[in-house]
Amino acid sequence: MPISETEVIRSRRVVLPDGERPADVLVRAGKIERIAPHGTLPADGHRVTDLGGTALLPGLVDTHVHVNEPGRTEWEGFATATRAAAAGGVTTIVDMPLNSVPPTTTLAGLEAKRKTAEGQAWVDLGFWGGAVPDNLADLEPLHRAGVFGFKSFLAPSGVDEFPHLEAAGLEAALAEQARLGALAIIHAEDPAVLAAAPQQPGVHYRDFLASRPAGAETAAVARLLDAARRTGARVHVLHVSSAAVLPLLRRARADGVEVTAETCPHYLTLAAELIPDGGTAFKCCPPIRDEANRDALWEALAAGEFTAVVSDHSPSTPDLKLLPEHGGSGDFAAAWGGIASLQLGLPAVWTEARRRGRTLAEVVGWMSAGPARLVGLDGRKGAVAVGHDADLVAFDPDADFAVHAAELHHRNPVTPYAGRTLTGAVRTTWLRGRVVDPGGEPFGIQLTRPSNPSEEIQ
Ligand SMILES: [Zn+2]
Repeated sequence: MPISETEVIRSRRVVLPDGERPADVLVRAGKIERIAPHGTLPADGHRVTDLGGTALLPGLVDTHVHVNEPGRTEWEGFATATRAAAAGGVTTIVDMPLNSVPPTTTLAGLEAKRKTAEGQAWVDLGFWGGAVPDNLADLEPLHRAGVFGFKSFLAPSGVDEFPHLEAAGLEAALAEQARLGALAIIHAEDPAVLAAAPQQPGVHYRDFLASRPAGAETAAVARLLDAARRTGARVHVLHVSSAAVLPLLRRARADGVEVTAETCPHYLTLAAELIPDGGTAFKCCPPIRDEANRDALWEALAAGEFTAVVSDHSPSTPDLKLLPEHGGSGDFAAAWGGIASLQLGLPAVWTEARRRGRTLAEVVGWMSAGPARLVGLDGRKGAVAVGHDADLVAFDPDADFAVHAAELHHRNPVTPYAGRTLTGAVRTTWLRGRVVDPGGEPFGIQLTRPSNPSEEIQ
């Protein structure tokens, strides 16, 4: 820390693992050294930052971010994505293995990512690997090199260099990951159900929604759970959009299958009914569904059925989104499917959570502690707790602001939240005890999956 080696951060609303209370947090050498009752830590030698009634949260951990660099840096990049993350209170991201070129499906692909990210990360970051057809032999070297697990698609991914797994390929990939003790993270939509759905291009969101029915998610999840049961792999269902998959997950867990799931801010805060004609900024796969489904996702979230709420930040250039306001056709079928929201996840979820009577501590559980646990970083990230990295966020839970896409740090000024008023503003972000300045020097570090001593490769 440049100003002093220690700092006391004081707030009447510190969100701790067991709930919110007034406290003093003593930070030394990048770690949380002590948590004491509010106003009790003496200032002797420490710099004191009194946040008053502004809340102090652990930095968010976003395990689902598509940085796209190298290869599609015009869509997003390490510098822009990590500045957006820091400005949005996210202090750790884990980068998805696709949309960059090369994808992270080989050790060389991982090395290319690491080299490119060097010196341009404003937050800490790690990497997922990818399990695709024909890279079974690459999984062990990637696992040993510290990727947090492996992503696979059960339907076409949207980019040619990252093909999806058919049944036999899925089985083989899960068996190998079970052997390695790796976490398999899965985009679950079923290609046969998608192929049988009506495909009506155009500007009407209801036609796009009909082309990606909830049945595609349930069919794929059912297939995944069968394969997980047979292979013993640990599986995580990415971006659950349809609440209809939840009973399948419950039954599988009851049978002893190790399965977790995540959902995303856009499924929790947006709804099909409000998406305008040509509103391709809202296009993602699986799609944002109706309000009744959104209510069901909130019920499941409150009941603890989701381990994490993560952004699935997946931007592209405005021309590929075919945005009418940029001269595009607004055709949902042809537009790039991906939502840009990394900087806005916390206020978006908090705005809706508060309306539904949920607490800030719950939001922290979903967006910080939960994802940290998912990737095994919970001994170090995801909590205001002694011994943890001092990744902290000063968050004003009562401040309203209007979203202007051009003011976000994302590389391209596109987001479905543009024009909306959100509640909750990030005032300061600390990474390992240092304030992150998006206009200053980056000091994020690259993280690897913590190795578990009991997890020896068989
Ligand atoms: Zn994604």
